[in-house]
Amino acid sequence: MLTPVEPPRTRTGAGRYAPSPSGDLHLGNVRTALFAWLFARHTGRRFLMRIEDLDRVQQGSAERQLDDLRSVGIDWDGEPLVQSHRTAAYREAVADLRERGLVYECFCTRREIQEASSAPHGAPGAYPGTCRELSDAERARRAESRPAALRLRAEESRWSVRDLYAGTYSGAVDDVVLVRNDGRAAYNLAVVVDDAHQGVDQVVRGDDLLPSAPRQAYLAHLLGLTPPEYAHVPLALNRHGDRLAKRDGAVTLSQLTAGGLAVAEVVRMIARSMPLPPVRGQNGPHLPETAAQMLEVFDPRSISLDPWTVLDPLMESACVPR
Ligand code: GLU
Repeated sequence: MLTPVEPPRTRTGAGRYAPSPSGDLHLGNVRTALFAWLFARHTGRRFLMRIEDLDRVQQGSAERQLDDLRSVGIDWDGEPLVQSHRTAAYREAVADLRERGLVYECFCTRREIQEASSAPHGAPGAYPGTCRELSDAERARRAESRPAALRLRAEESRWSVRDLYAGTYSGAVDDVVLVRNDGRAAYNLAVVVDDAHQGVDQVVRGDDLLPSAPRQAYLAHLLGLTPPEYAHVPLALNRHGDRLAKRDGAVTLSQLTAGGLAVAEVVRMIARSMPLPPVRGQNGPHLPETAAQMLEVFDPRSISLDPWTVLDPLMESACVPR
């Protein structure tokens, strides 16, 4: 008799999902969360949750997001980490970099950056370094009209990461904002500090964030942290080929259930998009209807690397075979 093949186990590592509580999760977000959960559990990792509430927050949405994730069968280990409670840790990381001369104050407005970085020789989108070498007098003068953001004094212009799907991915590294001019930690800093703090060694997220991975891994390197392994997965798109958004109709779990779908039908639709093969059921094979059933058949080597185009989920679900 054949012994079932056990997935590789890494006892200590963890995967995570890190939603921003700016509204309800849409189908694409739920799909990415399922991917992150599947990767973690498939490799025997813990799965952790993190609420990234340093930006725009919609009251009550963190709780609704967690409820939606639970309802499709995603579970996590321990309590979610809440970024707005982590100010001291971010401050410590900035102090560490500052002691090594790797931080400077930046007074640029968004507009100034845009104008300077669209100059013929600037790398598109990269900070052009305007405030890098300000004299003390100039810094004091600019501080009178505007609070400073803190930027990293990057010593590299490119960095590479390993991504399960993109392979060795090399991307631009610039003087990223570490602390915004309202005093809050910026996303790139918070992600790096928190992934390390939570013991996250596997980051699975939408491939719109692939270009951010090199600067995050570089920051981790500067802070003496081991960067995680990455798997950036394709996004859900709307009919125009743009990233799926809440304005694209009935795309959140509560809108879909209000429209008459059962959560199991939504999960089936997502399973088909990944795509996952059927699981064995009492009445014959059917597409997975819970996260646990997805895990029975999940294989990271056979997911589709094309984006998932979502037209009308209420109509489409009617066409998903059992
Ligand atoms: N909070 C980010 C988002 O919702 C995700 C960040 C990450 O996974 O690194 O887009």
